[in-house]
Amino acid sequence: MTGESILTYKVDLRRQIYHYFNCEVVTKAEQRNRQKQKQQHKAKTKNAKKEIKKRRWYRIRRRINKWLRVGRRVAKYAVGHKYDKITSKTVKHLGTIPSIAACQIIKKYKNNKKCKRVSNVNLIVPACSTRQYPSVIHESGVLTIKPLKLILRWHCPIEYTKINQVEVNNQYVYITVSVPAKPSPGFNKMIGVDVNVKHNLAAVGNPETKKVDYLGKGHIYRRAKYLFMRSRYQRQGRPGRVKAMGNKEHRVMTDVNHKVSAQILDRAFEDEACISIEDLTGIRKAPSRGRFKSFLNSWGFYQLRTFIEYKAALDGIDVFAIDPAYTSQDCSGCGNRKKVRGKKYSCSECGLVIHRDENASYNISKRGSAELNKLNI
Ligand SMILES: [Zn+2]
Repeated sequence: MTGESILTYKVDLRRQIYHYFNCEVVTKAEQRNRQKQKQQHKAKTKNAKKEIKKRRWYRIRRRINKWLRVGRRVAKYAVGHKYDKITSKTVKHLGTIPSIAACQIIKKYKNNKKCKRVSNVNLIVPACSTRQYPSVIHESGVLTIKPLKLILRWHCPIEYTKINQVEVNNQYVYITVSVPAKPSPGFNKMIGVDVNVKHNLAAVGNPETKKVDYLGKGHIYRRAKYLFMRSRYQRQGRPGRVKAMGNKEHRVMTDVNHKVSAQILDRAFEDEACISIEDLTGIRKAPSRGRFKSFLNSWGFYQLRTFIEYKAALDGIDVFAIDPAYTSQDCSGCGNRKKVRGKKYSCSECGLVIHRDENASYNISKRGSAELNKLNI
């Protein structure tokens, strides 16, 4: 449906540092000192090389940290002076920072009317600058970010049309690229994806073949484990561990979501079908109680959906977001609506007895098919 999709790659800065432009002003004494060090290191073994690399990294990190500090000041200034005209020249007194990055930070924080406090600022470099020479060059596995004086080793896993922008902080580099979408295979069947809180993360059903997959089984136990540990550390008053557990939970769920979304895509190709999914944008506002609230309020659903969407876009498969109202209450056989308790759905009208999630996935699939037919007519 869409011409291209946009992907962002997260790259570890320290690992990929390849080389850097030496643009520092070096005094003669320092130069002599460095030469001496170099000669000393030359005679040594591997450890010496490692040491040089370490020092180089420290220098780069120091420089980037300095820019990040200035960037933060610039962002604060931009938030405080929303109605004034700000250019990279007006913020010169705040410290030295590459002007292209300063411009981007000003643009970002000036246009954001809601932003009142500045927390984390990244250095942003747009790749298509108005200058005669591009600011970001990617050639044969080497990515050069000219304004930040960085050269990294980076291979893009897929072929892209262009690099949009590069964001840098003191740990990671985020490279955003445009990827051409594959032409749609023109599938006209539909599978429904029902996302759950309990037991399994997603139920994928096809009402035509009556085949249902339950994916991401047991995710709740893995999450509950880290939730439990986090609350225990909270009681003990160990904020570092609390944060670590939160991060761990995040990583585990991201992993699960990647796997589940890949499985859903496999299923779509197997069934030659489009994907229909609940539009869960409103779920955070839905009233919920107690322990489940923390599950519901989590980003997990949203992440799974975005994963499905971007993976489908890459393969050219259409995704339909449908209204989730009553998908678990309606009978997939006759359309009768009733309240459901427990895992079993039994219809009093037509006598259908079916797993609750299976029923929901069929309903979602049917609504998606209706949307598809609307498009085709
Ligand atoms: Zn029925």
